[in-house]
Amino acid sequence: MGELIAVEGPLPTERLGTTLMHEHVMVDFGAELAHPQRWDRDEVTQVMLPHLQEIVRQGVNSLVECTPAFLGRDPLLLEELSRLTGLHIITNTGLYKEPYLPRWAIPAEPKQLAERWVREFHEGIDGSQVRPGFVKIALNPGGLLPVQRTIVRAAALTHRATGLVVMAHAGELEATRESLDLIEAEGMSPGRFIVAHADQMAADIGPQDPAWSQALEMHEELLKRGAWLEYDGLGYGDLERPAQLLAEMIDRGYERQLLISQDAGWYHVGEPSGGTITPMTRLLDDFLPALRRAGLGADTLGALLIDNPASALAIG
Ligand SMILES: [Zn+2]
Repeated sequence: MGELIAVEGPLPTERLGTTLMHEHVMVDFGAELAHPQRWDRDEVTQVMLPHLQEIVRQGVNSLVECTPAFLGRDPLLLEELSRLTGLHIITNTGLYKEPYLPRWAIPAEPKQLAERWVREFHEGIDGSQVRPGFVKIALNPGGLLPVQRTIVRAAALTHRATGLVVMAHAGELEATRESLDLIEAEGMSPGRFIVAHADQMAADIGPQDPAWSQALEMHEELLKRGAWLEYDGLGYGDLERPAQLLAEMIDRGYERQLLISQDAGWYHVGEPSGGTITPMTRLLDDFLPALRRAGLGADTLGALLIDNPASALAIG
């Protein structure tokens, strides 16, 4: 196999183990751009530690932390939580979307953004030793805004310079299609692009609806192009629809392009004690039984939780 970058440093992919691909220790959707002076690292540690210890008890080995820069990404917080729990935590470089972008990003060229992100990959984030293990970006729904086009292209350039996989907050077909066109034009393979929140695509269409087969077509269109689909909304809401989606895509032969996670956690900066934290235990406690009911076997579950995260995060 290969190697990936966790907050504690480079890690052989075979040590990744059972992995939650999309969670959030902390998010700051404040009125101003997130900055470490806006939170108390000790308090966040105290609040989030028991939640992380809980998933370690369940058998989780690794957690991909998807909070982007300027939205509460804190490499030192993640490094400390990794040390205290033994979890491999993977953080990111990249940028989110309006209105959570620093002003300097708006007129920037893809090359300028990529230079910053590649520098973080080599030198660490914000003066720390912590290096990013993936590129996290976001797409606006519908046709991409100019700045989001720049960010997508910058992500492709960063991938080409570093081998980091790109994860896009997406969940909508039109923007995702356009992003795949853009990265291909930059010479990047869709096989290194993760469509996060893919379960949000045609979210209003369930397995009982007459339009279900069209919804499945939308999902398959992206898989056919080679992208990873991440069904990551498992921390809340209905579990049967995502279980059916997964079963259907696996049935069509895409087992090695699918990822699952919960989008849970969320210490909210600015709320007393971080507000309501969503437990990160639902995937193993409740979703795996739903998958078994949908007829998926142990090999498939191993692919979804262990092998696929390792392939997706491997540098290259
Ligand atoms: Zn998320």
